[in-house]
Amino acid sequence: MSDSLQLDMNFDKKVSNRLRSALDAGKFTVLVECPLPESEIDQQGAARRLDTLEKSVLACSKDDFNTGLAITDHSLFPRRWRGAEYATFLDRENCDRHVVYISGYDTDEQQAAELIGIAGNAGFCNIVPVSGATPLPCSVRECRKVKFTESTGMLRMLTPEQNFFSGCVVNPFQYMAYPLLGEYFKAVKKLDLGAGFLVTQAGWDMLKVQSFAWFMMSRKLYYPMLARVIVLTPERVEDILAGKVAGVRISNDFRKILEREFHYSNNQFENAQYRRIELQAAGCRLMGFSGIQLCGTENPTKLKMILSRIERALHEYTDFKTWLEEYNAYMASAEMAPFSNNFQLYDPILCRDYPLDEEVLSNDIGEPECGRIESALLKMREVMFKNSAEQRAGHLHFAKVLLAGCHGCQDCRLSVREFVCPEGCPKRLADGPCGGVKPNGFCEHGNFECIHSRIVRFAHKRGTLSQLESTMVKQSSK
Ligand code: SF4
Repeated sequence: MSDSLQLDMNFDKKVSNRLRSALDAGKFTVLVECPLPESEIDQQGAARRLDTLEKSVLACSKDDFNTGLAITDHSLFPRRWRGAEYATFLDRENCDRHVVYISGYDTDEQQAAELIGIAGNAGFCNIVPVSGATPLPCSVRECRKVKFTESTGMLRMLTPEQNFFSGCVVNPFQYMAYPLLGEYFKAVKKLDLGAGFLVTQAGWDMLKVQSFAWFMMSRKLYYPMLARVIVLTPERVEDILAGKVAGVRISNDFRKILEREFHYSNNQFENAQYRRIELQAAGCRLMGFSGIQLCGTENPTKLKMILSRIERALHEYTDFKTWLEEYNAYMASAEMAPFSNNFQLYDPILCRDYPLDEEVLSNDIGEPECGRIESALLKMREVMFKNSAEQRAGHLHFAKVLLAGCHGCQDCRLSVREFVCPEGCPKRLADGPCGGVKPNGFCEHGNFECIHSRIVRFAHKRGTLSQLESTMVKQSSK
């Protein structure tokens, strides 16, 4: 795939990449999310809209404060442009300051390669591939009808020789051990496949933001990280509470805070969101993040105001303790987890900065949760399928169907995926979970355990968690 991609593109010279330079230089970066228009508008209108947004965002850039656009790609409506196509309305001059997302939803590998080609030929070098999501709710059956290209597959197409600087996304807002480790392992895999920076899913739980930063430090993975933050509106809160936004959660305590903020007036509500965003941005910086990706407004006046408030907060909060006092006071020390008996890999409460002179030990994930029958079946699979990767396709097919939910792939991955067939995922993601795993570890498309949470759980049962971490990183999905 990467060969045909190369044929379609011009790679005659090394190009500058001001986003990458800013991240390398440690400049705090704010990428302003630019969603696709909700309906087809004329080309001139699209070009004007993007041009206005770009000008107002770039005007806020300073020596120590970098700004750019993140053009997303949620092609949930068939008549819309794709993000890479929409991005081409921007003038080439500043393309290296922006990021273009490419979604694998309803996209085959050839289409993904074409979109990468479109972005690359228009001068965009910063690309974030994501596996994508169907509009929720969506049943397993409906999801299975949709073609997904996994983010890891697209990362393999984006090589630095082609001047690409690719990023990847991670959802650190998981509250049970297995889904959380699945997310972390997949992020590491994406870095291993060449991603140069990370963007987190949106969330308000700063303890989870910190845990992810600590996990990265514990693995000595010092990559630029951006935290996605949302400007909430009452409508967005409704959508999140209704479960329409995959992987984004509002806890009960936080919901009550939002209700109080909305109680007085729209203005009061809006102001409260801006204050929270500036505190989130300052906290992220103190936790080692290189910036944020701001989602939820394209209004130039509001953007200018939010960006200047963020910049001011970065100057105001320069030590962790002062920031934490202010953050806890503002959030009334609210519980941000969706349920009380949740798993934290490190500290159970947000109370301290990373101690540079000592290694932070992670918490034990407890006894493996595996009943007697499940354990016996797992043992049986281990005995029967341990060499499946080397055996011809179809070998022991019926036993694999019965015991491991085999989908009859040409290259069997049972032996490197804890004897769980990754094709059992409704999106057929083989390299790790999507960002939409429910808080209880269930699939976003049904009432069953996410198959990647199950893979991590079985690895814990078999005592092969560290091997899983390394094989998830090293083993190609296909
Ligand atoms: S099985 Fe897991 S990775 Fe697959 S769609 Fe469901 S939640 Fe996402």
